[in-house]
Amino acid sequence: MLFFADYHTHTAYSGDSEAPMSAMAQQAADMQLKQLVFTDHVDYDYADPNFEMIDFAAYKQEFDELKARFRDKIDLLMGVEIGYQPHLQERIKKLLKSYPFEFVICSTHMADNLDFYTGAFFEGKTPQTAYERYFLNVLQGIGHMDDFDVYGHLDFIVRYGDYPVKQLHYRDYSDMLDEILRRLIYLGKGLEVNTSGFRYGLKQLHPQKEILKRYRQLGGEIVTVGSDAHFPEDICCRFQYAYQTLVDLGYKYLTIFKQRQPEFIKII
Ligand SMILES: [Zn+2]
Ligand SMILES: [Zn+2]
Repeated sequence: MLFFADYHTHTAYSGDSEAPMSAMAQQAADMQLKQLVFTDHVDYDYADPNFEMIDFAAYKQEFDELKARFRDKIDLLMGVEIGYQPHLQERIKKLLKSYPFEFVICSTHMADNLDFYTGAFFEGKTPQTAYERYFLNVLQGIGHMDDFDVYGHLDFIVRYGDYPVKQLHYRDYSDMLDEILRRLIYLGKGLEVNTSGFRYGLKQLHPQKEILKRYRQLGGEIVTVGSDAHFPEDICCRFQYAYQTLVDLGYKYLTIFKQRQPEFIKII
């Protein structure tokens, strides 16, 4: 099966990937994708101070070179994945004005100043409390920040807590989730369908089917599909499942972006 595009990938410009940008582009071209979107991390004020920030001067230079080199094979897009925290709003706004990003993912990688990855956020919390705090942080975020195109891997929080069951149910958080989804729809923002959970041993997309179903029921139509690949071989990982799930849920179109503007293409 041929896939159209991967809307969430990382390269060595992200602190947590060593994949050369050229290797990612080559792999995507070999897979005959029409587009590949680089969404390297910008996580200001991250819990781990060694998490490197993108060297944008070098990034932009290499990106422009590759864009020209691959011009006849694949359309490369310069995107970004922002790790949102409330006190960073002004810095984020400034960054987004400084470079010609074509696609912006807003993600919550930390909540209440605490990190998910190291587990600090979950200390002393039941799963219910942790997930509620996470969704509340997301809600507050999209209450204040609207300079983004899609919300990243909503519900990926289930990966990180050291709990026996790594799952949450829409019904237990329906009030908050409905508020999040309604707000996204009101703002004209999309929901990312992120396939990376499978690489963490989870058997679900982020967000899970129930949430994707609800977004559509409420009138949501903007969905992008991203692998969150940090290695070339993970590009488009599990996309067949993601496309099929969207079709099963009644989605007819995938969303692509041109200069931050959504366009719709039929799911093949
Ligand atoms: Zn992320
Ligand atoms: Zn990512």
